[in-house]
Amino acid sequence: MRATQATVNLAALRHNLSVVRQYAPHSKVLAVVKADAYGHGLLRATPGLEDADGFGVLRLSEALALREAGYSQTLLLLEGVFSADELMAAAEHAISIVVHNEQQLQMLEQAAPQLQHPLQVFLKMNSGMNRLGFRPDAFLAALERLGACSAVKSDIVLMTHFATADDERGVAPALDIFLRGTAGLSYPISLANSAAVLRHSTAHHDWVRPGIMLYGASPVTGVAAASYGLQPVMQLTSEVIAVQELKAGETLGYGARFTAEDEMRVAVVACGYADGYPRHAPNGTPIAIDGRISQTLGRVSMDMLFADLRHLPQAGVGSKVELWGQTVPVDAVAEASGTVGYELLCAVAPRVPFKVVG
Ligand SMILES: *Cc1c(COP(=O)(O)O)cnc(C)c1O
Repeated sequence: MRATQATVNLAALRHNLSVVRQYAPHSKVLAVVKADAYGHGLLRATPGLEDADGFGVLRLSEALALREAGYSQTLLLLEGVFSADELMAAAEHAISIVVHNEQQLQMLEQAAPQLQHPLQVFLKMNSGMNRLGFRPDAFLAALERLGACSAVKSDIVLMTHFATADDERGVAPALDIFLRGTAGLSYPISLANSAAVLRHSTAHHDWVRPGIMLYGASPVTGVAAASYGLQPVMQLTSEVIAVQELKAGETLGYGARFTAEDEMRVAVVACGYADGYPRHAPNGTPIAIDGRISQTLGRVSMDMLFADLRHLPQAGVGSKVELWGQTVPVDAVAEASGTVGYELLCAVAPRVPFKVVG
């Protein structure tokens, strides 16, 4: 069998959830498990997040799967519902919904006479990201309509999402817009993604919504996840399946993107972009062979990539390779490849078998 595999470490998930609680001790934690738990597998990952106060997902089917699996916590649809049918199903299974636009508000008002169970709503303000949410000057009117709607429970939560919690601009302007737009209201508040959990305690409030930090990757480019005390949850591993002995001047792989200056040994690793490894990873991207750091060479192909064995004379066919995980942070591979850990974790291909440990 091909050696490429991903491992999900539940103990690391539990640990990272405890890190969220250390940073935001007074907040409830809505663990964000959208995108199949950031590529880890929804029901594979949630056993490590059982202590979360709720889960945030994108699709109704994900929320229903969690209910069916016995999770009784708050389950929030982060983009709300897309049809009246979804609204009915959400109400029936006590799934909370974001309401971010006029269409959703109307859908609720129109469905109200038929809804047997009212729903919990998270009302979203657009505080400057300009993606989802009511503008601050339309927010109170939306809240009043929710308050008057029999389909909506009284435990409404007021929320927004930050565009720059992860960089030097921070959350202050958006937080100010949100707090001014909700002044005098006494509803619970939910604002903070991972970056705000880690960097902006003024934004913690009642519900924090961490995603990436739960998986042990960093929300802040250039700051290692380990420096926040986070542990990697996913390890992507494979093996060396061939070794090439290059002579000076010989090249590697498609496009001959690497030329040997001297005689050297090169490992061929059974992992490529069809497994989710980024094709944009340049020469020099970190990779671990038998636990030792090395670097990729040449262009990543569909099923294979190359790694430098110049300083690893013991390594050969069958040597263990870590593409990312404990020794090579996923963020290091992402940074070299011009992307973020989020994208690499989410992009692990369906053909890669997963194993759960811890
Ligand atoms: C994805 C998402 C989060 C989590 O963001 P991270 O950066 O992964 O912590 C929080 N809130 C909303 C609305 C989201 O869509």
